[in-house]
Amino acid sequence: MIIDTHCHLDDVRYYEDLDGVIANASAQGVEKFIIPGADPKSLPRAVEISEKYEDVYFAVGVHPYDAAAYDRAVLEPYVNHPKCVAIGECGLDYYRLPESEEAIGAEKMLQKEVFIDQIKWAKELDKPLIVHIRDAGADSLELLEKYAGERGGVLHCYNADEQLLKLAEKNFYYGIGGVLTFKNARKLIHVYPKIPTDKLLIETDAPYLTPHPHRGERNEPAYTTLVADKMAELSGISREEIEKFTTDNCMQLFDL
Ligand SMILES: [Zn+2]
Ligand SMILES: [Zn+2]
Repeated sequence: MIIDTHCHLDDVRYYEDLDGVIANASAQGVEKFIIPGADPKSLPRAVEISEKYEDVYFAVGVHPYDAAAYDRAVLEPYVNHPKCVAIGECGLDYYRLPESEEAIGAEKMLQKEVFIDQIKWAKELDKPLIVHIRDAGADSLELLEKYAGERGGVLHCYNADEQLLKLAEKNFYYGIGGVLTFKNARKLIHVYPKIPTDKLLIETDAPYLTPHPHRGERNEPAYTTLVADKMAELSGISREEIEKFTTDNCMQLFDL
């Protein structure tokens, strides 16, 4: 069994054929799914999907790109839903910053403020955190070391930044996705063997980051099998073993 720990099934690109996407995944042994929160406007859709499909769970959170839309009061009613398993995705993303120094400072400040609030919220609720980090390793490390609770979480997008491996000690897991199959994945291929096996998870980030050989197409949870194959190839252990420990890790972290 494989669990897709990060797939945006609430995305408009699945409106037409979600039944098919889920059936296709199940046929490949992908049996559970977690929809991370991103834009608060799509949260009702994530809840609806989790109520329709027994094996779909969701998280409540706001992506750094939507930091301006963050309001804990709006999200609050969703966190006690029985299918809400985490807070996130939240984090820092400095990949697309504004032009002027002043605007950059304001953007970073806003992202940090919203990230800190979600880290604290997860700690209060004793829920794991789903963290998105892009080009912001040092600042993210500082905030997580300072504020994160013992429950930890998963770093789903972290640029294969080696300094972040330190967070394994704080019960953070590492989500491995389609990037591992890319021809230019040198950095991740280098970092991957250094991640303890009891801290590895599988994810797609569907509909984004589609693995080889489907790059350019819409991603879907069934393609986690390509990631699992690549992990097996790089570690020299069997697909079955990869499936077993990543599933155990996921159950442990999210308490499914
Ligand atoms: Zn992300
Ligand atoms: Zn995502």
